[in-house]
Amino acid sequence: MSDLVTRFAPSPTGHLHLGHAHSALFGWTTARSAARSVAGRFLLRIEDIDPNRCRPEYERDLIEDLAWLGLDWDGPIRRQSDHFDDFRAALARLGSLGVLYPCFCTRKDIAAEIARAGAAPHGPDGPLYPGTCRHRSADERAERIGRGDSWALRLDVEAARRLTGPLRWHDRARGWQDATPELLGDVVLARKDTPTSYHLSVTVDDHLQGVTLVTRGEDLFFATHLHRLLQALLGYDPPDHHHHGLLRNAAGERLAKRDRAQSLRSLRDEGRSPAEVRALAGFPDRT
Ligand code: GLU
Repeated sequence: MSDLVTRFAPSPTGHLHLGHAHSALFGWTTARSAARSVAGRFLLRIEDIDPNRCRPEYERDLIEDLAWLGLDWDGPIRRQSDHFDDFRAALARLGSLGVLYPCFCTRKDIAAEIARAGAAPHGPDGPLYPGTCRHRSADERAERIGRGDSWALRLDVEAARRLTGPLRWHDRARGWQDATPELLGDVVLARKDTPTSYHLSVTVDDHLQGVTLVTRGEDLFFATHLHRLLQALLGYDPPDHHHHGLLRNAAGERLAKRDRAQSLRSLRDEGRSPAEVRALAGFPDRT
């Protein structure tokens, strides 16, 4: 019997809204409607690596909201903040490949360098890191780290690509994609005080949890180019992907946590039933 393992991986930085419900139902429905010959599993993961933005009460509330909505999940919930050692180990492996470098730039330094250079290449998330710290000497790096300066570890995308060669990944909606992680530039993979980042921990956890189909919103489509590169560097088998469209409000804008009116809690307080909310999230019950 083959496995189909999907997941929903929210960050507890606010209450879940209809967009989250859509994403959760998308992964859940895919796993639960798998063919008989396939063992469909749906996992829940809490992406709480940022202690400044994540709160335990949001985690508690989101678990309650998902259960209220009628979702269930397989196995224990994985909370990323309990697994920093896994991320440290992956980071050490990347470090041993020589594809990481410490960056000491503040946001201000980066903005000044981009202004000085006149034109900066842009990626899907804005201007790319201009590479200021990529070529510092080992002595200078050691000296600044020893001095207690703040640093972030960045991925040297070009060096990484030279190691892996060309890569591809598959999306169930859009087909095969040539991986172009350079579109995101030398992203930050860890910081002095946090041994990971969204990109690193999502890649490590999808692998460790045996996720075979990454289901998530198309706002993260470009991130997958980078995740594919990390998978190759870390020796992971790539999962399949299905990036789904985003739910929009009446004005055509993406739903965000700040749209309180759309939170699952507020809909529930208004007296909406789980079936009604599932329908609002794009998953009406089949009759
Ligand atoms: N934690 C991410 C978010 O809440 C989702 C990560 C993913 O599905 O890959 O946006």
